[in-house]
Amino acid sequence: MLILDNSIILNYVSYILINKHNIIYSRTMENKEIKIYTYYNFLFWHYIVLKMSMKEIGKICGVDGKTIYKYLKIHNIKREKLYMNKGWLIHMYIELELSPYEIGEICRVGHVTIHRCLRKFNIPIRSHSEAAKISHNRPEIKKKISDGQKRVWSDLDYRESHIGENHPMYGRCGELHPNWKENYEDLSYEIKHRRIHLMLEEMSIFAPEYCPYCNKPKGKRKLDLMNLFHTYLENSLDYYYMCQKCHKIYHSLAGLEKRNSKVKSIPNLIKDLLKLKTRVEREQLLKKVILKCK
Ligand SMILES: [Zn+2]
Ligand SMILES: [Zn+2]
Repeated sequence: MLILDNSIILNYVSYILINKHNIIYSRTMENKEIKIYTYYNFLFWHYIVLKMSMKEIGKICGVDGKTIYKYLKIHNIKREKLYMNKGWLIHMYIELELSPYEIGEICRVGHVTIHRCLRKFNIPIRSHSEAAKISHNRPEIKKKISDGQKRVWSDLDYRESHIGENHPMYGRCGELHPNWKENYEDLSYEIKHRRIHLMLEEMSIFAPEYCPYCNKPKGKRKLDLMNLFHTYLENSLDYYYMCQKCHKIYHSLAGLEKRNSKVKSIPNLIKDLLKLKTRVEREQLLKKVILKCK
């Protein structure tokens, strides 16, 4: 009586699994007539199930990746694009609170593609202030902040001199601040910008992660807090966050800068902006005119 124990069976099964494909390939090599990569089943197995790249599949068949691409197309074999899956996108964007930029990195596409899909699936897109709050609440950022505070507070002398009323700036914020200037107009350009920045923050308007006009992430292009009329008045309605490139385009459109001849100025743009009395309306007009130049 023949007794097969489990290990023999397992070894045999794995032998077959490992060698199954080698057998196919060696037969392919012997018989050049059979172009195995032209078969639907072969391509589906390697491309979809084994997740091999076109180049890798080409290599084992002795052809290049382009040939594999051609036959994948003929058989209409497509990998599922994760970001085209509404459930997956909701999970990443809403539940895990990843930004479109981060989701794009996972799928190896740009954040613009992710934005497009979010809109397509009617997934509500976070406002820039919501996005800023989320990134600020990320554990790694929180840790950075608390580490910095811990370091300072572990210094007892420092702590002693900075607790409550001992703090040199105790109660001296705003107008009591030693550097406070009565007239906004007397402030330097940088301080004016800082003060506007704080004013906007109080209104829950934060520096966005993306340029609201071209959607480029702030890491790729510097973000300006620009003043619509270059008057730099103490009016929050005149200040908008946008990337340097869009800011430059706006300069040309508004006729604030004559150098860039590629973009023609729009007559009355400044007048039209002045007429609009809400932030949303002004942002809409800015978006309309800037996006036309893209
Ligand atoms: Zn921009
Ligand atoms: Zn400007």
